[in-house]
Amino acid sequence: MVPVALFWFRRDLRLHDNAGLCAALRSGLPIVPVFIFDPKILSSLDADDRRVSFIYSALEALQEQLVAAGTTLQVLHDEPLKAFATLCGRYHVAAVYTNEDYEPYARQRDAAVAAELGRQGIAFLSFQDQVLQAPGAVQKEGGGYYQVYTPFYRRWQALLTDACLKPHPSEQLAGAFHREPVGTWPSLAQLGFRKNPVHAVSPCLPAETLLRSYHDTRNLPAIAGTTRLGVHLRFGTVSIRALARQALDTSETFLKELAWREFFMQLLAQEPRLVSESFRKEYDAIDWRQDEEAFGRWCAGTTGYPLVDAGMRELQATGFMHNRVRMVTASFLVKHLLIDWRRGEAHFARLLLDFDLSSNNGNWQWVAGCGCDAAPYFRVFNPQLQAARFDPDGAYVRQWVPEWGTSAYPNPIVDHKKAVARCVAVYKKALARE
Ligand code: FAD
Repeated sequence: MVPVALFWFRRDLRLHDNAGLCAALRSGLPIVPVFIFDPKILSSLDADDRRVSFIYSALEALQEQLVAAGTTLQVLHDEPLKAFATLCGRYHVAAVYTNEDYEPYARQRDAAVAAELGRQGIAFLSFQDQVLQAPGAVQKEGGGYYQVYTPFYRRWQALLTDACLKPHPSEQLAGAFHREPVGTWPSLAQLGFRKNPVHAVSPCLPAETLLRSYHDTRNLPAIAGTTRLGVHLRFGTVSIRALARQALDTSETFLKELAWREFFMQLLAQEPRLVSESFRKEYDAIDWRQDEEAFGRWCAGTTGYPLVDAGMRELQATGFMHNRVRMVTASFLVKHLLIDWRRGEAHFARLLLDFDLSSNNGNWQWVAGCGCDAAPYFRVFNPQLQAARFDPDGAYVRQWVPEWGTSAYPNPIVDHKKAVARCVAVYKKALARE
């Protein structure tokens, strides 16, 4: 058997400008492209999970390009260690290339795979691809990671050199794939899933005009004023480098949002405990309410606060919610209803198409006041004022809450003023215990 190298696709489902794939294709070894459906991840998802449908379609699009290059994607459904054992039986594997994934589970998984391959004399080579600055690269002057966003952003931006922005032209090296006839894959049903419509834009760079007006339009949920590229950044169907180059030419406000993504990523990489704990530990003393009815009404979008209800219904129907509305709905759960942010975080994690552990966790903690560089706990969004400011003619609310303004629409679940007073009192009590 001729020696080959495997390229393991994960959060980088594209052939163009892919750092690890580019390095693999330049290695001189024929490259076998691989994707592994990990039962450990799949078993935590609903049968109609939209992310699985999204990934499946992205793999089909990849396969079209790979077949045109004379090869085929090897798709396995197995624990990664076992999948590699299968692949090592099928090929003479000299090396495995991939791109880094910084989530706590991914790091453990990769360490185990690298160790097992190492025992067999097979190199495991991992490249920076999904971020402009890898977690740990943006350090404070005296060392240590940034806990405040603005100085992080300044340093992050100073480190945006040509070297980290330059494309990796993997798409020009398609001749280096291992030539192979088209193979078969497990169907969605064999994986245990049903197809669910995916509401996503195509994986193209945003229009220049959108980014130029982004600063003024990004807070208005009724209009298409943001890029909706979250899911493509999550699964790597767009290149972060191409997006950042475009942002540098058009909109610093947009560049700052890309930096928030990396701020939360470095934070979780440094502090994996945040998956279950508050960044500021004293906030874990808050006496959260156990109110199943209120939680159910928040999830269903029947709180009687139109902007909150519109957001929750949009999330349920499409897997997307506008950033401004995410802030308002999250704040409402935590502060008006005094329900633990972890419950809201888990609900978003189940439904968001662009779900990303570090961004979701970081933003929930930010809203709850317990996070890194978070909003002070006594600053409570007023959902009515937010609606008046960001959806002044009610177009967004009417789209998702057609019965708004009729007798069919529920009365508010809580009184705003009383809820704010209760929230401040409960937070104060918890923080006074320290
Ligand atoms: P755009 O405005 O076009 O921004 C471009 C990209 O910048 C986004 O796709 C995203 O990658 C990044 N970005 C923008 N805002 C933020 C932010 N506040 N934090 C981190 N990255 C940001 N974003 C996720 O990607 N996954 C999540 O699971 C997630 N959960 C969230 C939960 C809450 C409670 C809140 C308040 C925000 C959350 N966000 C999350 C951040 C933000 O709402 C989404 O990134 C954004 O709405 C996605 O839409 P877009 O692609 O049109 O964004």
